Amino acid sequence: MLGLMQDYPLLVQTILDHAALNHGEREMVTRSIEGPIRRYTYHDLRIRALRVAKALQKEGIGLGDRIATMAWNTDRHVEVWYGIMGLGAISHTVNPRLFVEQLIYIINHAEDKMLFVDLTFVPIVEAIAKQLPSIKKYIILTDDQHMPETSLPNAHAYETWLAASDADFEWLSFDENTAAGLCYTSGTTGNPKGVLYSHRSNVLHSLMCNQPDVLGVDSRDNVLPIVPMFHANAWAITFSIPAAGASMIMPGAGMDGKSIYELLESEKVSASAAVPTVWLGLMQYLADNDLKLPYLKRVLIGGAACPRMMIETLENDYGMEVIHGWGMTEMSPVGTTGKLKNATEHLQGDERINLKLKQGRTPYLVEMKIVDDQGNDLPRDGVTSGHLLVRGPAVSSGYFKIDGDILNKDGWFDTGDIANIDSLGYMQITDRDKDVIKSGGEWISSIEIENTAIGCAGVAEAAVIGIAHPKWTERPLLIIVRKPDADVSAEQILAYLDGKIATWWMPDAVEFIDEIPHTATGKIQKMILREQFGGYQF
Ligand code: ADP
Repeated sequence: MLGLMQDYPLLVQTILDHAALNHGEREMVTRSIEGPIRRYTYHDLRIRALRVAKALQKEGIGLGDRIATMAWNTDRHVEVWYGIMGLGAISHTVNPRLFVEQLIYIINHAEDKMLFVDLTFVPIVEAIAKQLPSIKKYIILTDDQHMPETSLPNAHAYETWLAASDADFEWLSFDENTAAGLCYTSGTTGNPKGVLYSHRSNVLHSLMCNQPDVLGVDSRDNVLPIVPMFHANAWAITFSIPAAGASMIMPGAGMDGKSIYELLESEKVSASAAVPTVWLGLMQYLADNDLKLPYLKRVLIGGAACPRMMIETLENDYGMEVIHGWGMTEMSPVGTTGKLKNATEHLQGDERINLKLKQGRTPYLVEMKIVDDQGNDLPRDGVTSGHLLVRGPAVSSGYFKIDGDILNKDGWFDTGDIANIDSLGYMQITDRDKDVIKSGGEWISSIEIENTAIGCAGVAEAAVIGIAHPKWTERPLLIIVRKPDADVSAEQILAYLDGKIATWWMPDAVEFIDEIPHTATGKIQKMILREQFGGYQF
């Protein structure tokens, strides 16, 4: 027997309707690409998003069409994003940091019909436009006054294009499983793969992210999503903030410590989210200028492991709550967050930090488990590590236009991460499966060594790779980038690690290089390091 409840499709445009009707006075604040701070309300945001949808429809865009954006987190980007989705078209957020070949590949693979581009990225697009036959129109996210000279064919200033449409438009209604967003993984090996979010998965994921044990913002919060919309939906924040009625503060292109600090202060930001590198920049700026952040209460840090000293400094010196999160593009992207719970909130000092260093627990709507190489379930004992599998309504079931099953027979997705899970449900990533170091039949966690090494004075960045060893199969090599002007030595770094990691994890050697290669999402490209140090002998 079926229940007698309404068949109310979970569509993302209903989030904007809700925000405009019930929190219409709350603000959308943007550091514009042109320079000044721009502000309006959720009421205005909805009207402008409706105008985008109407303008797109006039262009012949409809259900299932892919529209690309290459843009920072701004009000205009959010308008376009809702406008596209509210029409049943698909918002393809392109990561401008991808290599040129990857940009050409994904835009062609997605067959995007239009591209909305920020002023900053116009030169990137100009350089590849001839190789993007599917794009029929370019909309530059600015007004006439700031419109640049451009070689882009059929290019228009956004404000002028938008001015030709009013808001007399109704969102389309369709099945909640309709595709809403497309985001390609950066693809450390092979071509990038398209993750195709649905309206339903986005709505459920944003409700999930608003649980108190995840980011849990409410209608009194002012939230600054620093993590870009092109990096897996800005971790759902562009959906979950308006759903909660919190104000949205957008950093635009200002990702440096000073710009971020100014917005946090002037807009009394209470919650924010970014990858560790951004927090490093902010912490440096705060320290250099002897500043505090009295309004900022919680920060979500993820995308890469959060180093110990970051949690210590932000919590102890600045009084913030650090929420360490883990996830991936294929998970919409949030998978776990490491908030304390009833059984752990009494922890103090090192024990507390050790727990916070773990990647955390799954909220309701994500399931995870670890398995061995044969796929057998492993215990949640906090020690045994294995392949981390996940499933849930906001986890991918396949990649866009790629045949083949990506789930096992029970519907689990292999994250490619190696982790342990403790009896309270806290998960700890120890490695990527392709980066794992096998020494004497045991696994060494390169991530843990790296995070510890970062705490040593003079170390800017650390990477650990396995080097072939005649007796132990592999042994760790620690690769270090020194801070500018630092002269920290191998001996000093090893002495620093001594006692902080297991003795048999101690790197057999330390090498110094000028720069560690990164992917477009800021991850260390170990494959390149392994090539660079191919044939290395201890
Ligand atoms: P990419 O496109 O580079 O794969 P994702 O953002 O999807 O980008 O990357 C997901 C991966 O990032 C995870 O599988 C994991 O390896 C890593 N990651 C994310 N958050 C954390 C974290 N808090 N600690 C350690 N690794 C993390």
